[in-house]
Amino acid sequence: MIYLDNSATTYPKPPAVSAAVSSAMKHSANPGRSGHSLSLAAASEIYNARSSAAGFFGCDNEERVIFTSGCTMAMNMALKGLLKKGDHVVVSSLEHNAVMRPLQSLAKDDITFTKAQIVPFDNEKTTDSFRKAINAKTRMIVCTHASNVWGLRMPVERLSALAHAYGLMFVLDAAQSAGVAEVTMKSGYDAVCIAGHKGLYGPMGTGILILGENILPDTIIEGGTGSSSAEFMQPEELPDRFESGTPNLPGIAGLKTGIDFVRKKGTDRIFAHELALMQYLYSRLEKMPEIKLYTPRPDAEFTLPVLSFNIDGLSSEETALRLSKRGIAVRAGLHCAPLAHESMGTLDTGAVRISPSVFTSGADIDRLIFALKRI
Ligand code: PLP
Repeated sequence: MIYLDNSATTYPKPPAVSAAVSSAMKHSANPGRSGHSLSLAAASEIYNARSSAAGFFGCDNEERVIFTSGCTMAMNMALKGLLKKGDHVVVSSLEHNAVMRPLQSLAKDDITFTKAQIVPFDNEKTTDSFRKAINAKTRMIVCTHASNVWGLRMPVERLSALAHAYGLMFVLDAAQSAGVAEVTMKSGYDAVCIAGHKGLYGPMGTGILILGENILPDTIIEGGTGSSSAEFMQPEELPDRFESGTPNLPGIAGLKTGIDFVRKKGTDRIFAHELALMQYLYSRLEKMPEIKLYTPRPDAEFTLPVLSFNIDGLSSEETALRLSKRGIAVRAGLHCAPLAHESMGTLDTGAVRISPSVFTSGADIDRLIFALKRI
């Protein structure tokens, strides 16, 4: 199969990731709960994973790296833990439902939001849209690093600086960027929400929340941490405060190995490889009159390697089905991001999304182009 749905989750995973998951299943017990050797080994596995993630994301304090079940969980913890009754939030017009649905549910606490309209390929105007959306009640800007549908990259360092100039928090959704673009806490983000199973090549069901210094959300889940067990109060110390319950040790061990894999390959090299594939695909698709492309040619400054399109007269689902019959996996529909489709006028049709990984080859893209011509 030619797998081009890596924005959903990367496939295949590096063999070392599967090996790490398997080894953790065989050789460890509940970490931080007991003094026996299997438990201690597990605790040290988690410690190593936390250190590795902290180093990768430029976080000086590894206690601020919280393991979660994915980017959605991390985003819920950041939004619901940080926002207070009556607050206002500015989001981009490209946000995923991982941001929009928690915000929608916070409406019960009079928490409101404004969408800042993105101007593709114009960081100045995009930043201006955010500035204009800030009002007296605004407490936070939340923005995706790059659209999971269009690949459009947001000027997040500028937006973070804008937030801080107005005394606001900045929360970054790095679901699509971690592993293909630089994501570093040195940029001053207050919280970064990361998917472990996409560009970091970890197992599904893994993710990370990284909190900036001086940011302490309320908890949305409480329970056993293996520490301060005599207290009914949730501990204050990080990361225990946010990691109640038995951790997903096999997932975390796999995620660490995925991060090591990306570090060794080099984020820049992975990005250059994937971008070249998407530029090649774009240059072929733009010559096919039946294909509707929605964004300008992918480039290094303004995009991440994700490309969406439609074929005249076919629904995106039908195109994906026909590709699937030819052994090519892509994603159609709305990609859990109706806002992004609304921005591009594709809410009714959806779009066909192509997303490569480090394992995608030029020959894979040629097979896709051939199949699209036949369709
Ligand atoms: N944010 C964006 C931009 C995404 O693309 C995704 C997943 O597709 C998510 C959040 C949710 O990530 P997860 O599946 O790890 O919860």
